[in-house]
Amino acid sequence: MSSVKVTMRRTPADYKTGSMPDWCPACGDFGILQALLNAFAELNLDPANTVLVSGIGCSAKIPHYLKIVGVHTLHGRAIPFAMGIKLANPTLEVIVDGGDGDLLAIGAGHFVALGRRNLDIAVIMHDNAVYGLTKGQAGPTLPRGIKVKAIPRPNVHDAVNPVLLALASGYTFVARTYSYDIKHQVEVIKQAIQHRGAALVHILQPCPTYNTFQTREWYEQRIYRIEEEDPSWDPVVRDPGDAWEKYNRAVNKALEFGDRIPIGVFYRNETVPTFEERMAESIPSMLKVPPVMQPIATKDGKPLITIERYLPDRIV
Ligand code: SF4
Ligand code: MG
Repeated sequence: MSSVKVTMRRTPADYKTGSMPDWCPACGDFGILQALLNAFAELNLDPANTVLVSGIGCSAKIPHYLKIVGVHTLHGRAIPFAMGIKLANPTLEVIVDGGDGDLLAIGAGHFVALGRRNLDIAVIMHDNAVYGLTKGQAGPTLPRGIKVKAIPRPNVHDAVNPVLLALASGYTFVARTYSYDIKHQVEVIKQAIQHRGAALVHILQPCPTYNTFQTREWYEQRIYRIEEEDPSWDPVVRDPGDAWEKYNRAVNKALEFGDRIPIGVFYRNETVPTFEERMAESIPSMLKVPPVMQPIATKDGKPLITIERYLPDRIV
């Protein structure tokens, strides 16, 4: 009898929990949810080994709608939760999902730290430029001088550019896509999940309830695909010696955000070691047996882990 192993192919429906999203009608979050379902199915991700971590906000409800391991955490703290999960078990596929307010205001320090460390985590950022869950205050990506429904005067803050911040912080995969373009999102999200290192997917996500300026029409008059305009566009660093030139091209492209808005992959570099690999240099067992699986005591309670094992040169 044949002993051929059959690998189950999953469909988007296999990743649905059955809970009905309670977002407003026409919210861009619906498109992002569908893109995640499609991307997970196309990658055939194992739900038991895929962890999605969110903070607080409209977008942060998304773990409730996805049948994988979901962790709905604290405002701005999705990234440190995710980093802890990834370091405890580097074999897991770890994804962060959150809004611009969550990741770039209260969570901005963590966002920068993830890039500097280059942990193998994909960040899916829903950018609607407002705090939708708390009734539409200006978010960190709303341009200065713009008035939206819930603020009494035009915004007095300058906007942060998430793609530029990710590039400056050390993210080794940086891309932008658009929430009403499911096909483009799926392609970009799949690449981000498969990338070995810290990845940002910046998703332009209209909030029809509160962002009365950056509407669907506003975006669709401005968005263009980088590789369609420039078929020679190649964001992949294959040799560390090419990194600086590709990085500078990505930065120049990312500066364009106004009358025209580029979408696509800006930069991809797998020649930078991940944080897990950097840690494994001093803790070689880390990548062989995930720390969470390592025994910490014998059956009779004798500790197997001691500080001397990890820091022999620091003990006096
Ligand atoms: Fe979507 Fe905006 Fe409604 Fe939140 S407030 S669910 S972002 S449309
Ligand atoms: Mg927001």
